[in-house]
Amino acid sequence: MSIIVCKFGGTSLANPERVLRAARRLVDYRQAGHEVVAVVSAMGKTTDDLVALAEAVSPKPPLREMDMLLATGEQQSMAVMAMAIQGLGQRAVSMTGRQAGIITTAAYSKAQIDQIKCERVTDALAKDEIVIVAGFQGVTRKGDITTLGRGGSDTTAVALAAALHADLCEIYSDVDGVYTADPRKVPRAHKLERLSYKEMLEIAAAGSGVLALRAVEFARRYQVPVSCRSAFNDNPGTIISAYKEDPMEQAVVSSVTYDNSEAKITIRDVPDNVGIAAQVFSAIAKVGANVDMIVQNVSEDGHTDMSFTTPIKELDLIEPVLKAQVKALGAREYGIDRDIAKISIIGAGMKANPGVAAKMFKVLADNGVNIGMISTSAIRVSVTVRSENIERALTSLHTAFGLDADEEYEETQLTAAELAAKAQKGR
Ligand code: ASP
Ligand code: MG
Repeated sequence: MSIIVCKFGGTSLANPERVLRAARRLVDYRQAGHEVVAVVSAMGKTTDDLVALAEAVSPKPPLREMDMLLATGEQQSMAVMAMAIQGLGQRAVSMTGRQAGIITTAAYSKAQIDQIKCERVTDALAKDEIVIVAGFQGVTRKGDITTLGRGGSDTTAVALAAALHADLCEIYSDVDGVYTADPRKVPRAHKLERLSYKEMLEIAAAGSGVLALRAVEFARRYQVPVSCRSAFNDNPGTIISAYKEDPMEQAVVSSVTYDNSEAKITIRDVPDNVGIAAQVFSAIAKVGANVDMIVQNVSEDGHTDMSFTTPIKELDLIEPVLKAQVKALGAREYGIDRDIAKISIIGAGMKANPGVAAKMFKVLADNGVNIGMISTSAIRVSVTVRSENIERALTSLHTAFGLDADEEYEETQLTAAELAAKAQKGR
């Protein structure tokens, strides 16, 4: 007998039929002899609606109250799911984050899981119950409700799977798995059978929305095998695990991703002194803003330009810091460019194959795509391009690195067009 944790995203629970469909899956697992825990997100667009409600009554809703409000979305789902399962004749019990023992930090709206005291869950499993846990929420040691940040139910599921020593954590959504590229942008993208944790970490960090980054970090730390699959069919999904093979045999590039949620900030004519970078980025870190790619030019005449990318939604946090820093440093000015996108190629086989970055740059050049910033890790190369070049960059790289789906695949699986239509509808 094995323990399976199944997480259902909002789209997979958007209406009563879908809840029942998910419930049947859970009942089937239980009847096949598994111990079953489900982690549920808020139904459909509930969380967005709750955010809109908060913003309609307050220009800047206090985060503690925001978490109180948003946590109710998942609470609806868990109760409805438990009812659906019981209606199918199987025992089930729902639990809030608190009841499931999910203890978090007090950082409202982006709390981190500190500890999971899952005795109550294991007791219920021992009583032959399917346990439904509200995703995305936890409770501080003082007893205040917190949420883990948008998309946080993935993290709840993987963390719970780790705490329960589950054999598998399944993440159900409206897509069949992790693709070589976003099928809405690259029609010849295809589903990947498996990925290592490292690859998935890079893919999640590079902007793919299939699995939340923190969930992948948990999965890797505790070695939880994760399957990303569709709630709407029985196709096997993408398995993310610690599979180790000869890097020579791994795909040089397994995925091409884009992220257009970041802006590029440039501080011009910064005096080239010791400690300047530390000063700028400490000030930014202090307001809790994230920084991604950083480039500093070689200085001429004692001045240099400093550029970095940051989430567009964090610009409000950063702008006051920039104003203050430009003044304090005696820099000339700062500029913000929102029309950029980060394009990344990712693959575990990159380590063993020189020349991958060079090939990427050549392909982009041959296709008339200009490169802004560049950054790399052992298994990823990222560049920034103008937003209008996203599709051209993605499709040309996808083809050049041999990722285009072959005819055979398209015949036996859903066509890319069908997939794209489906993905569009679910969002
Ligand atoms: N309901 C939350 C959200 O929409 C959490 C989640 O879906 O994982 O962000
Ligand atoms: Mg959601």
